[in-house]
Amino acid sequence: MIRCDVLIVGGGPAGSTLAWALRDSGLSVHILDKRRFPRDKVCAGWITPAVVSALALDLDDYRRERVLQPVSGFRVGCMSGPLVETRYDGGPVSYGIRRCEFDHYLLRRAGAVVHEGVAFKGAEPGAGGIVVNGEYHARLLVGAGGHFCPVARFLGSRLGRSETVVAAQEIEFLMTPEQRAACRVDPELPELYFCDDLGGYGWAVRKGDWLNIGLGREDNHRLAEQVAAFWNHLRARGRISGEPPARFHGHAYLLYPHARRPLGGPRTLLVGDAAGLAYAQSGEGIRPAVESALLAAAAIREAGGDFGPALVERYRALLTGRLGPRRQRDAAAWLPAGLRQALGRRLLSSQWFVRHLVMDRWFLHRQQPALAPAG
Ligand SMILES: Cc1cc2nc3c(=O)[nH]c(=O)nc-3n(C[C@H](O)[C@H](O)[C@H](O)COP(=O)(O)OP(=O)(O)OC[C@H]3O[C@@H](n4cnc5c(N)ncnc54)[C@H](O)[C@@H]3O)c2cc1C
Repeated sequence: MIRCDVLIVGGGPAGSTLAWALRDSGLSVHILDKRRFPRDKVCAGWITPAVVSALALDLDDYRRERVLQPVSGFRVGCMSGPLVETRYDGGPVSYGIRRCEFDHYLLRRAGAVVHEGVAFKGAEPGAGGIVVNGEYHARLLVGAGGHFCPVARFLGSRLGRSETVVAAQEIEFLMTPEQRAACRVDPELPELYFCDDLGGYGWAVRKGDWLNIGLGREDNHRLAEQVAAFWNHLRARGRISGEPPARFHGHAYLLYPHARRPLGGPRTLLVGDAAGLAYAQSGEGIRPAVESALLAAAAIREAGGDFGPALVERYRALLTGRLGPRRQRDAAAWLPAGLRQALGRRLLSSQWFVRHLVMDRWFLHRQQPALAPAG
């Protein structure tokens, strides 16, 4: 039997951040991941400076062997309308990263014992802790396995059923010289295209010679067709050329206000997508994953080795203090859908609205300062 204090299932940003934040706590921390790193993850790969700061990332070290695309503004609009350009002075307001590189980097520096290629198969109570796969005994189990986290299922969540998910598909590829020459997407200015019914948005994010194109929606009705239509739309606008060089890959996630996942249970916590924490308007999930992990680490340190019910309550209090209560109502929900959509399309052509509300508040969350790194 392998014994540890904290066993984290999932080595994505949530799991690796938790391990990193506990690196000098005196607790022995192990991570299980069913994949071997570097591994791909379906994601646009856009992070905000708050993530860089909370992780205390050394950008010079990071960019030495990895893609790090500074972003200084955005082009935003409706599919059927013009794009509004917003530029910022004073340094990057976001960065484009490749998840296969980013997640690998974070996991390697986490300071935990990592068991790669090991899937969570099941758990049961053991003396003073939980036994996982009949092989690992932990005093505390943390589910950081993303949207389909098996620890969330172990706690009773009915994954994929009775949950309102955002379904998304994307493709990321290294452009050929011909594709590069035809690509009009500026690496410093990612492009966001809201669907005309405002049920989701598509993006074109260029990171150096890599191009990431995708679309996410709150309903997944004929998503593949809508994604194909979006590709053609970008081509018709002259932003890209040719056919997609590979298949689009899909994934799902939950938005924090609607998610019903628990935050923990007996000797168990959930962090990141496993707990359903992505921001409502943007779907950004890396920052909530990192922040939930830092808050979980703070609660674990405060617990002083007592991983009873008070730990989950403390974590819940810290997370709610940060993200607000779940089930916030959409301020415009009372408007008829047609009127909301017409209003939304109109607002998305306003320079002021796009800069101050869409970008500053919804996508960049500039109103909320970064969390301090733990340790
Ligand atoms: C198309 C798309 C685009 C997105 N774009 C962005 C973006 O640009 N910016 C942003 O901030 N967010 C974005 N997100 C959201 C973001 O990807 C997630 O919120 C983020 O990955 C959550 O991190 P995590 O560590 O909680 O989970 P994950 O990154 O999903 O990591 C979970 C880990 O758990 C492991 N695992 C799963 N099951 C098991 C098991 N049974 N046993 C052991 N290990 C297991 C997996 O292998 C994986 O390594 C996007 C999401 C999608 C779907």
